[in-house]
Amino acid sequence: MQSNETAKFSEGAFQPVIEQCEGCERIVEVDSAKFCNTYAQPGAKWRLGICNFATHAKPEVKVVKVRINPLKAAKRANRRG
Ligand code: SF4
Repeated sequence: MQSNETAKFSEGAFQPVIEQCEGCERIVEVDSAKFCNTYAQPGAKWRLGICNFATHAKPEVKVVKVRINPLKAAKRANRRG
């Protein structure tokens, strides 16, 4: 018997994952085919760039950490009044 969880994939609404999905934790294997548990059409998801649900790939966003000295910040805030 198939659980509801896998039934949604075998019904055909979900398309198999694509190459870029390899390594993603959202991949679900059903009947030796791999599907995305989050997105029905992984191919479409990647067409515009990196899939935003991907757990294995992240867009190259450089987060610049600005270290703020709390004391100086407080002084600056005070000065601005
Ligand atoms: S979440 Fe994105 S990268 Fe992961 S399997 Fe689904 S479509 Fe592929």
